[in-house]
Amino acid sequence: MKICVTAGPTREFIDPVRFISSPSSGKMGYFLAQEMLKQGHEVTLISGPVSLKKPTGIIVKYVQTAKEMRDQVVKGIANFDVLVMTAAVCDYSLPEIHTNKIKKNDSELVLSLVENPDILKEVSKVDHDAYVVGFAAESEDLIENARKKMFEKKLNMIVANDITQKETGFASDDFEGFILRSDGSLENIAKCSKSIASKCILKAICEDICES
Ligand code: C5P
Repeated sequence: MKICVTAGPTREFIDPVRFISSPSSGKMGYFLAQEMLKQGHEVTLISGPVSLKKPTGIIVKYVQTAKEMRDQVVKGIANFDVLVMTAAVCDYSLPEIHTNKIKKNDSELVLSLVENPDILKEVSKVDHDAYVVGFAAESEDLIENARKKMFEKKLNMIVANDITQKETGFASDDFEGFILRSDGSLENIAKCSKSIASKCILKAICEDICES
């Protein structure tokens, strides 16, 4: 299959040297991409800025901002069989980036932000046949919020994890969470390495596609 995975954070620049981002490491997406390659799939990885090595055998497209990621995903979606959005996309950006470095002037600095495009929602409006998987990093009502996102973003599957858990939350090496499908089914992924979790997630995707 032709699979597209997004990974890592996005950066929304304030001025030439400052940006808004998140501590996402990109590990989940990179493990998934590598596992997909190992299982014989053709993989495109759209990656935000991370400190992980560029994987070989995978088409890697580096982006910085949510809009750049959106452009790459929307441009390619008609050619993919599966899209897995693990990226921690920034929800807000500045309407205009300051051309010069902002200087301090002993007063409060107020930044006004505008909402970024929701990539998955935009994908749902484009004509394509891809099986779409989202991720939900939640700090409360994990299952309920993940299910809501799955329906709002018109996903086939969502992978949910609790980011308040120190060992399995954001930027950690381990994963613990649930796979929810649009048919209502729920599968637990007990605490394991992100490498093992990526195998479970890919297995669930492949099973679902074979059944449909
Ligand atoms: O709404 P929330 O950010 O929690 O949703 C998470 C899912 O939506 C992830 O799969 C993420 O990659 C995707 N997302 C997106 N566009 C955004 C924000 C998140 O596609 N602007």
